[in-house]
Amino acid sequence: MRTFRYERSSSVSGAVALLAEAPHGAFLGGGTNLVDLMKLGVAQPDLLVDVRRLVSDRVEELPGGGVRIGAGTPNSECAAHPLVRQRYPMVSQALLSGASGQLRNLATTAGNLLQRTRCPYFQDITTACNKREPGTGCSAIEGHHRDLAILGTSPECVATHPSDLAVALAALDATVRTHGPGGERVISMTELHRLPGPEPQRDTVLQHGELITAIDLPPAPFATRSHFRKVRDRASYAFALVAVAAAIDLADGVVRDVRIALGGVAHKPWRAYRAEELLRGGPADEERFRQAAEAELADARPMPGNAFKVPLARNTLVATLLDLAGGPR
Ligand SMILES: Cc1cc2nc3c(=O)[nH]c(=O)nc-3n(C[C@H](O)[C@H](O)[C@H](O)COP(=O)(O)OP(=O)(O)OC[C@H]3O[C@@H](n4cnc5c(N)ncnc54)[C@H](O)[C@@H]3O)c2cc1C
Ligand code: SF4
Repeated sequence: MRTFRYERSSSVSGAVALLAEAPHGAFLGGGTNLVDLMKLGVAQPDLLVDVRRLVSDRVEELPGGGVRIGAGTPNSECAAHPLVRQRYPMVSQALLSGASGQLRNLATTAGNLLQRTRCPYFQDITTACNKREPGTGCSAIEGHHRDLAILGTSPECVATHPSDLAVALAALDATVRTHGPGGERVISMTELHRLPGPEPQRDTVLQHGELITAIDLPPAPFATRSHFRKVRDRASYAFALVAVAAAIDLADGVVRDVRIALGGVAHKPWRAYRAEELLRGGPADEERFRQAAEAELADARPMPGNAFKVPLARNTLVATLLDLAGGPR
C-alpha cells in the first residue's frame, strides 16, 4: 500500500505553500477523478491538500452582468443555479450531461476542468503511454482509438480531453482565476488546456501548485440562446464521442455573432474560430452551417478507428446551429 499525507489549510496562500514544498503533491477537490487514478496506480501523490472547502463554493453575479463560479462549487449546484441556467444554459446542460447525480454532487468546478483523459491506455499502467510515462510510446495510435482525437493530435499522443463543462466555458470566453507560488493570475479558458505536441504529460498551462479559485463568465446576452449537444454511446454515464457548445446572435435571419466549441475531438476544448468567422454576417441557413462545419474540420487527421468522428462532428454542429436558429433538423 502506498502511503500519503492528507492536509487542509485555513488559507489559500497556506494551501499553495504546502504544495510548493511537495513536488509530488496534489490538490484534492471532490476526489472523483484523482482518487480513482490513485487506486489504479496512475497518480501517486505523496501529499493531498484538500481544497474543497477552502475555495468558494458559490455562484455570484459580477458587476456588469457576468457571473463568477467558485472553484469549489459542486457541479450539481452550478448546473441548477438560476444565474447559470438563465444566462448560460449551455453551461448547465454540459454539466448535466456528465457523470451521474451522485458524482455531480461531489465533483467541483475546478476538479471537473482538471480531470484527466479517459484514454484506456492512460488508465492501464501495464501499457505504454507517453502521457502517463513520457518516452514510453503511445499504445492508442496502433491500438484502440475509437474514442480519441481527430484534431490537433501529435505523434506522441492522440488523447481527448474529457470535461464537458470545459467545452461550454471555452465557447463563452470564460476566464480562470488562479493563485500560485508566483501570485495570482487570470487565464483564458481557451488557453488553459494544451494540445499534446511533444509533451503530452502536460494537460494544461498551470504550474505545479497553482490553485484554481474561480471561473468568470463574461456578460454575453446572446448566450441565453445557447445549447450543448453531446453524442455518446449511451444516453447517460458516458463521455462524449463528439460534443458541440454553441451560442448564436441572430437578426432577420443573419448571424450577427456566434460562439462555438467542440468536445471529444481534441486534447483540449476545440474552439471553432474558423467556423465562427465564416458564419458571422452570413445567412443562418443549413448550407452556410454545413460550409462552416466543413471548414472547421478541414484539418482533421482521423485514424482508421475514429474516422466516423469527422462526419459526426460536422452533422452535430449543423444540427445544433439549426436548433438554435429555429430551423428544420
Ligand atoms: C463514472 C464517471 C463518469 C463520468 N462522466 C463524465 C462525463 O460524461 N463528462 C464529464 O465532464 N465528466 C465526467 N466524469 C468526470 C467527473 O466530472 C470528474 O471526475 C469530476 O468533475 C472531477 O471533479 P473533482 O472535484 O472530484 O476532482 P478531483 O478528482 O478532486 O481532482 C481532479 C484534478 O483537479 C485537481 N484539482 C482539484 N481542485 C483543484 C483546484 N481548486 N485547483 C487546482 N487543481 C485542482 C486535482 O489535483 C486533480 O488533478 C465522470 C466521472 C466518473 C467517475
Ligand atoms: S493517446 Fe495519449 S494518453 Fe492515450 S496512450 Fe497515447 S499517449 Fe497515452
